[in-house]
Amino acid sequence: MKTRACSRRSFLKTSAFAVSAFSTMTCTASSAKDPNFIVIFCDDLGYGDLGTFGHPTIRTPNLDRMAGQGQKWTNFYVGASVCTPSRAALMTGRLPIRSGMCSDKRRVLFPDSSGGLPQSEITIAKALKAKNYTTACVGKWHLGQLPQYLPTAHGFDSYFGIPYSNDMDKVARVEQKEWENPKSEYFNVPLMRDTEIVERPADQTTITKRYTDETIKLIRANKEKKFFIYLAHNLPHVPLFRSKEFEGKSNRGLYGDVVQEIDDGVGRILRTLEKLRLAKNTMVVFTSDNGPWLIFNELGGSAGLLRGGKGGTYEGGMREPTIFHWPGRIKPGVVTDLGATMDLLPTLCTIAGAPVPDDRALDGYDLSPVLFEGKSSPRDIVFFYRGTRVFALRKGPFKAHFITKSEYGSDNEVHHDPPLLYHLEHDPSEKYNVADKYPDVIADIKNEFNKHLDGLVPGEDQLAGRLE
Ligand code: MG
Repeated sequence: MKTRACSRRSFLKTSAFAVSAFSTMTCTASSAKDPNFIVIFCDDLGYGDLGTFGHPTIRTPNLDRMAGQGQKWTNFYVGASVCTPSRAALMTGRLPIRSGMCSDKRRVLFPDSSGGLPQSEITIAKALKAKNYTTACVGKWHLGQLPQYLPTAHGFDSYFGIPYSNDMDKVARVEQKEWENPKSEYFNVPLMRDTEIVERPADQTTITKRYTDETIKLIRANKEKKFFIYLAHNLPHVPLFRSKEFEGKSNRGLYGDVVQEIDDGVGRILRTLEKLRLAKNTMVVFTSDNGPWLIFNELGGSAGLLRGGKGGTYEGGMREPTIFHWPGRIKPGVVTDLGATMDLLPTLCTIAGAPVPDDRALDGYDLSPVLFEGKSSPRDIVFFYRGTRVFALRKGPFKAHFITKSEYGSDNEVHHDPPLLYHLEHDPSEKYNVADKYPDVIADIKNEFNKHLDGLVPGEDQLAGRLE
């Protein structure tokens, strides 16, 4: 595994995690009490929006600390560059094409959608139920708003949150300039507790704080049990909201205030775990569903040095700032190997000693050997789907684009043969096409592409249907 250790950890400088001092720290699922899991998932947070990932003015001391104590992954991907399919990928460990949670007709689910995540899918929550985990979903779901698709129908004991994006259910035409200082009343989104609506419109100014409060309450209530909490913030998806306490806090403006409130919540959660002596028995994962929403200019985030953003298949759309934290268990450092949100299901199941589903095609890998033993990542390939089609494919350091198209523009697709080829380790910004230098790499990636399509069974489109 290629690693770049923090400078103060000089002992990690050479071959990093392979040093013998760590060889005794291997983790087995049977050791001590079964661990807890908290997955914190942001909405539209860019690769470059955290202090620890290089943002010059957004201050994220809690996430920076989390990264310093844990593993910061710099090549970690999502399953799609928009909300619904990305979330389906995380929850099921499968490419969204397999569950039908992607479409070429509608890119995500809407409040009038008739579909959702099929009951035949196995979510992380459902899989962990085999080991009697208490499971809770807090925040944005976006895998179906009808009762049969809600978290409580997919293995979660409880749900508290807005079931889809915070810009939906618009009450009237909101002028562009009003998005800079939005009001909750403009968006009639429901806040749900389990299957009931408890507030509408949801007061979005306090939503980040309330999601954090709910998570802390769940940790306290279940401190004697083992738990899995999926905390999916609705923000920093536009329209941007933050509580009074965070108004004007960040030099980055409104977007920075929002990210800093999320960071503050991460700090509160970590401190709660420490206070309850659960920190050493809890893995916390932090990442986001897709890249920054660039069409909103300053209101959207930043992908840092990566090209593109939400909605597209350049790196900025699908590579996310990702941190794994578990003091005393995870070997601290920076991991440059490949990982993906689809790997969370097999990784969490393996750590928990729960069976990994073996009756279906899974696209995730168990990352625990990287987390605990410093081994190389088992993942070597990333598919960049847009809707139901593969637009690009990464294998090792190389990424080939077969089709390109702007994130949200009305431009036509451009088909590339030979594909555009970028060496992402040398050129993370995808600026320099090196296709003519590497014909063998292109042949190999084309072969992977065809192999993938050969065995693929697409699920029935869940996103296209509308309620009568
Ligand atoms: Mg999103």
